[in-house]
This record gives sequence, structure tokens and C-alpha cells, in this order.
Amino acid sequence: LDAWSLHSGDRLPLSSLPSLRVLPLGGLGEIGMNCLALEIGGEVLVIDCGVTFPQTDLGIDIFHPDFTWLDHHRDQIKGLVITHGHEDHIGAVPYFAKRFDVPIWGPRHALELIRNRLGEHGFAPNQVNLNISQPRQKFRVGNLELEPIRVAHSIAEATGLVVRSPVGTIVHTGDFKLDPAPSDGELTDEDHFAAVGREGVRLLFSDSTNIDLQGSSGSEALVARTLLPLVEDFEGRVIVGMFASNVQRLRTLGELAMATRRKLLLMGRSVHTHVRIAREIGKLSWPSNLLIAPEQAANYPRREILAIASGTQAERMAALTRMSLGTHPQFALDPGDRVIFSSRVIPGNEPDVMQLMGDFLRQGMDVRSSRTDPGVHVSGHAYRDEQARMIDLVQPEAFIPVHGTLHHLHRHGAMAREKGVREVIVIENGEVAEITPEHLQKTEERTPFAKIPTWHGETIPSQVLKDRELLGRNGIAFVTVLVDGRGKPVGPATIATRGVVDELLHAGLLRQAASEVVRVLSERYWGRDLPTDEDLATVARITARRKIEHTVRRKPLVMATIVRVKT
Ligand SMILES: [Zn+2]
Ligand SMILES: [Zn+2]
Repeated sequence: LDAWSLHSGDRLPLSSLPSLRVLPLGGLGEIGMNCLALEIGGEVLVIDCGVTFPQTDLGIDIFHPDFTWLDHHRDQIKGLVITHGHEDHIGAVPYFAKRFDVPIWGPRHALELIRNRLGEHGFAPNQVNLNISQPRQKFRVGNLELEPIRVAHSIAEATGLVVRSPVGTIVHTGDFKLDPAPSDGELTDEDHFAAVGREGVRLLFSDSTNIDLQGSSGSEALVARTLLPLVEDFEGRVIVGMFASNVQRLRTLGELAMATRRKLLLMGRSVHTHVRIAREIGKLSWPSNLLIAPEQAANYPRREILAIASGTQAERMAALTRMSLGTHPQFALDPGDRVIFSSRVIPGNEPDVMQLMGDFLRQGMDVRSSRTDPGVHVSGHAYRDEQARMIDLVQPEAFIPVHGTLHHLHRHGAMAREKGVREVIVIENGEVAEITPEHLQKTEERTPFAKIPTWHGETIPSQVLKDRELLGRNGIAFVTVLVDGRGKPVGPATIATRGVVDELLHAGLLRQAASEVVRVLSERYWGRDLPTDEDLATVARITARRKIEHTVRRKPLVMATIVRVKT
């Protein structure tokens, strides 16, 4: 730049202004799978790399973001910065690390969870370059300066991020709330958000999750107060279901167990993993005699047991589900024991969770949740008053809402406009925004966006999923035809089905379809060339499907096998 162009009041021509592109690869237009790319001056910074979970039962473990855009910019990626250790922010790191060999920064707690996950994916220890980030400690990624800021959230060591760039300072809240009394003392660093705000903030990204909820999300201290009487004077065992990653809640429950002289039992793999990692990094200082193994529980009076269990979303193999069915191998409940759901229900899971509660009730348990006792859970995400306060603290010139469905993003955007933020845009996954020191706009550009379904770490091909959906809806039929060397059937065809008809009741239908296949193949004139097996299978498949479809009014998947017999 020429010196003259930097005089105050001078306006640079737009083309020479630095410009930063915002490319959401996940998490905008949905709640989950957060992954945001920022591109400036030929460098790419990625913020968070999470997964989302399927709502259907097609054998999918998780979805991770489509990395196609990053693949096209692989030489420009300078690093991945993680805000906190929730799955929707770190779950896709192994898939990312398989493709891109770049340094990763994050809070120690998140990095330990990532290390654990990388190990499960077959990475050698230290194969990935992991760097601990600390609140208020600046570090560089390429030409960008980053600085984490402590935020309160339903996990240990959550952070927001300050990104100082040539277009100005950008603040990303991460997932946050303004808990005045978190059990681990990790308050949102409002002073620092305000200080950065006074420096001048060009752009704020803020958590939209709870934009529909008035007031404030409430404190973890409320959970402790609500749980105490539910545990203290209760004669039976108490089982608390929760998200194991909620380290603050684990602390609350540890203190509760000590205060009520109960032994603590950990039920479920994720509870063990999260407790181990929280203890390793000094976030849980439980005395060694507090914990007992599930099989020891029988040696203690019922009123001395407090169990922590995972599986509040009624996940099939989880500890709570097994307890509700009385099939847990090491731990059985008795009528009169109390089960407390200290958790929210993820939208979409309500029917399954009500079923789970029903299974406990049927066994004579006393079931509590935020529906019966509102304080047994508080959200980790800011409600409207807290979201408004964040905008007040940061005073951004421009605003892009994140972490929400399109509905959440629009409402949060409207709030920012009402509060006087000059430039507000809403973008979804696959859309691109561009920001300069003077302008923020949505561009015409689109990036490839998809949710990549995986099973045991491997991508499930889309054709496989389509087939599974089809199988689930319409079932499958197998046609077998014996033919001679000229492709003419020799004897009857057979049709076997799964998920199409009751074969005993509809044996007649299947026989008719089989003889139709034989008739069509017998009458078919193939010309001078003899038919291949594939030609014959195609005709058999189409004929069988038409016949079945005509009778049962659904189109099953049909597979045909041609067997050549010597005549
Ligand atoms: Zn989170
Ligand atoms: Zn999140």
C-alpha cells in the first residue's frame, strides 16, 4: 500500500482492501457438526471439526463434514483450532487428521479427548501435532493471531476465540453461557470480551442454540440445590443420568455424594472415559474411597448408593437403557429406587426417552426429570438475555449467528439488528460470506456441503444407504431361474422374499410371480445373439418386480440369479 492511501479518511478502492471469506462446512443451518473455515490472503484457518448423530436407524455411527473444499485448499490450511471438547466440535478430528497434516490447537481437556479418539482410529501417540491453548494467551496460525477467551459451558475448559486479522478483529463465542456460579469456577471472561470489544470488533460469531428461550440459562449451582433434597432424604438408590462430558455436573454429583454419604458408581463407557480424562487434567479431585465398582454395590445399603449413568437419549446399548430393562450385567435396580434425568432431551429423541422413562416406571422406579423438577438440569448454552449481553460486551460492527438451525440463525440475527448491529447476515452450510474492513456480504459462491455418513470410521457409500432405505421401506425379493444354454428356462423359477409379504400367507402370489418370470423368459426372442446371464437377470428382475408391485403395491429391491444347467 502507498503511504498516501493510509491517511485517515481515505478510502481504499474495494479491490485492494483485505478480504476474509467465511465458509461454514457444518453447524450453520443445523445444531451439530460444527466446522468453520476462514480464508484470508491464501491461508485457511479451520475452527472446530465436529460430528453429528443420525436420527434414522440405517447403521450410521456419525456424520462428519464434507472435506472437499478443504481438499481443494489443502496446501493453504494453516491449522485447526478447537473451542472445546464436545463431539459436535471435535468428533471429526480423526477424519480431518487422516486427510490434513496440520497443527491442531485447543484447550487441554479437548486435546485429551481428541487424543483418546485418535487412538481409537489407529493413530500413533504424537502422530498428530496437538498444541494446548490457554485463555488470554495469544498464538499465531499463519498470519492470523489467535487468542482464546474462557467461556462457561457444560464442559471443562470451554473457550471462545479472538482472531486478529487484516480485516479487523473477529470474535467467535464458541458454545457459551454466562453462568454466575459454575461448579468449577470457570466463569465466562466477560471483562476480556468487553476489553476486546473496546479495541473494536469487526465481526462477531455467536452461539444461537437457545435463542427461543427467554431470560437466562441458570447456574450449575441451581442443579446442586435441586438435586440435594432429591438425594439426601431418599431411602433408595439414586441413579443420575447425564451427558458424561459435563464435567461441571460430574463435580456437582461428586460433592452431592460426599454431602449425602453415598458411594459413587460410574455406569457406562463414556462416563468412565470422561471421568478419567477430567481427573488426569485435575478437574475432578475425588477421594479414592468415593468410588466403588458396580459389582460392589450389592454390599452397600441402597441409601448409600449414587450412580452416574450415560444414555439419557435412550441409546440402545447405554447403561440407562440396560438398567431400565433389567439387563445390566453388574447392577440391578429395585422398585422404589430413584432415576433422575439430569439432562436435556435432544429434539427428535423425545419418543425414545419417554419410552425409557416408561420402562423405569413400569419397574416401580421413581423417575424425575426437568419436567417434574425443573432445576435438575440447566443448559450449557446462553438464553436470550445472555446472548444480548454478549453483543453488548463485544459491540461488533458485523454479526453472523452460528450454532443453530436456520430458524435459530434468523432469530439471533434479528436480535443483533434490534440491538443496533449495523451489518448482519445469515449464512448456512455451503454458503460463503466475505468481509472487508468496510463490507460484509453473502457471495454467490457455493462450497460442496454434505454430511458424510460413517460406520466404524469408514464412509458408507451413498448407494449402500439408498439400498438400506429401500430395504427398510419395501423389502427385498430374490428370483432364481434355471436356464439352458440358449437361455430358456428349464423348470420353475423360485422367489424368496424378506420384508415384502408373509410368505406363508402369500405363497400363491410368489408362485404366480415365479411362473410369470418363466413365461416371459420362455417367450422372449433374443434375435441371433444368445442372451447373457445379465440379459436374462434383467428381464427376470423387471418381470418379478412388476408382478409383485402389481399385487402388494410396493416396489421391493429385486435380485435375480441365473443358473445355467447342461441339458
Ligand atoms: Zn458444546
Ligand atoms: Zn456445540
